[in-house]
Amino acid sequence: APVPASNFLRNIVEADLAAGTHQRDGLPPVITRFPPEPNGYLHIGHAKSICVNFGIARDYQGRCHLRFDDTNPTKEEQEYVDTIIDSVQWLGFSWTQPGDQGDQEYLHYASDYFDQLYAMAEYLITAGYAYVDSQSPEEMAANRGNFGAVGKNSPFRNRPREESLQMFRDMKAGKYKDGEHILRAKISEDAMASPNMNMRDPAIYRIRHAHHHRTGDAWCIYPMYDYTHPISDALENISHSICTLEFQDHRPFYDWLLETLSAGGFFKQPVPKQYEFARLNLTYVVTSKRKLRQLVDEKIVTGWDDPRMPTIVGLRRRGYTPEAIQLFCERIGVSKSDGWIDYGVLEGAVREDLDPKAPRGIAVLRPLKLIIDNFDASASVECSSPVHPHHPELGNRTFPITREVWIEEEDFMEVPSKGFFRLYPPQGEQPGSKVRLKYGYVVECTGFDKDANGKVVAVHCNYFPDSKSGTDGANNYKVKGNIHWVSVAAALQAEVRLYDRLFTEAQPDAGGKDFMAALNPNALETVTAYLEPGMKDAVADQRFQFERHGYFVADRIDSQPGKPVFNRIVTLKDSWGS
Ligand code: ATP
Ligand code: MG
Ligand code: MG
Repeated sequence: APVPASNFLRNIVEADLAAGTHQRDGLPPVITRFPPEPNGYLHIGHAKSICVNFGIARDYQGRCHLRFDDTNPTKEEQEYVDTIIDSVQWLGFSWTQPGDQGDQEYLHYASDYFDQLYAMAEYLITAGYAYVDSQSPEEMAANRGNFGAVGKNSPFRNRPREESLQMFRDMKAGKYKDGEHILRAKISEDAMASPNMNMRDPAIYRIRHAHHHRTGDAWCIYPMYDYTHPISDALENISHSICTLEFQDHRPFYDWLLETLSAGGFFKQPVPKQYEFARLNLTYVVTSKRKLRQLVDEKIVTGWDDPRMPTIVGLRRRGYTPEAIQLFCERIGVSKSDGWIDYGVLEGAVREDLDPKAPRGIAVLRPLKLIIDNFDASASVECSSPVHPHHPELGNRTFPITREVWIEEEDFMEVPSKGFFRLYPPQGEQPGSKVRLKYGYVVECTGFDKDANGKVVAVHCNYFPDSKSGTDGANNYKVKGNIHWVSVAAALQAEVRLYDRLFTEAQPDAGGKDFMAALNPNALETVTAYLEPGMKDAVADQRFQFERHGYFVADRIDSQPGKPVFNRIVTLKDSWGS
């Protein structure tokens, strides 16, 4: 495996290892976590976070936990838990570690900590660090002020601790309606003047009479993200809590909370530290669960796993490999300032991964019939080609040439343009062009047929029997054009889906733009193609390079035995000129 490049996060981890910062009995000195909320499918941005967190754990003999941040009962579902587990594993990472008592699974749910989170909230109230606020949400928002204006203390801020404690217990017991009261942290005397809004007595528990996908109806109060997250990290003895930049302003509360609760003896020391890196913004896609959901809901795509989607399940179905996604994440690195990564980098990674390993194949995507008039109508001559040009050990594939073959429409021109070396008929005194049918014979174009509308429906040629590829005679023919083909009689007809980028604009949602206006109408074109006959044995998820066209995968959902459906993963070259 390649040695990962250093970056500022790895530098921090290495410095901590050298200094013994997180040396704790019985624990590895590096413990990270990936903490998705199970409210949607993971996307390529999450893959970056997964590679960062699991990658650091892997490279520094630590471990990485998968933790579901499931504190928002109304948006979360088991379906999302299942797909997230599946996606992380597919990407090649594991939260299972060998331990003294056998394998240990570090798969956690914030909801498993509800009892502890509750007990800590009671502690905070008792110690004078939290109070029940009874302002309406509007009053609370108004009194909190804003960046330019100092806020005002809630009239309930100095509510006696015993009263807050009783009310908090009553909140838990279901005596109040949603929104009637809220538990807030009480940070410092001048908290409402803090330039950081997150430090103006943030809410830590709210009333929500809602069914939770794991705890059912056991709770009608739920802890807030900013309260749950640091505590979950500390309970799991996370050493480096790595997140995206938007949480930078939440770090002071993260530190305050863990320090305050440490005084109550709740955690092993030292407590976790939060570090932020720039989220991934990838051109030509959107990476927001909400926006991706809109594409699914409005049926712009066929589902979360539509091959056009930048979700992990979509990329997988499109034919991306876990190795390609890991390579991409390694290549883009991590930094402390936001930017956009060109979609071409992702495409480059999958080309680089597949080129050395994808077997080759031939596909004619836009078929035009070529008739070899001097070829015996009942003859079938075997041709062969390496499975992979750099892996002779993989052997050869064979396919027949017959009197009629399919070629690409674009490989014929009635009147050749300058520099066109493929098939064209005689031009006045000039004979028609000579080209090699790759792995087969050299042919000379003699004419063509048109239908009533003037469309070319067949091309005619004669072949040179002594020109077969791989024979001595082949050397006597020097031709500039080399085209691919498949036998009409032997070809496998198959549905091929030509996918392209989902949006036509590089930054479809930048600056609050309406990303739906930038949808690429040509993001999917479905063609009926002719493939070399051996392709009938392609199995779901098998990937190929179709010569001249790019990389393709047998669709994992729609392929049937003997009847594969192919998705174009990526073209051979970047056609977007970036
Ligand atoms: P979204 O904004 O799409 O709803 P989210 O951040 O709300 O995503 P979470 O499930 O909370 O989704 O994310 C889990 C982890 O993945 C978080 O630590 C988050 O910082 C990280 N993450 C999410 N999006 C990106 C991204 N584009 N680049 C890097 N990391 C990301
Ligand atoms: Mg989130
Ligand atoms: Mg979000």
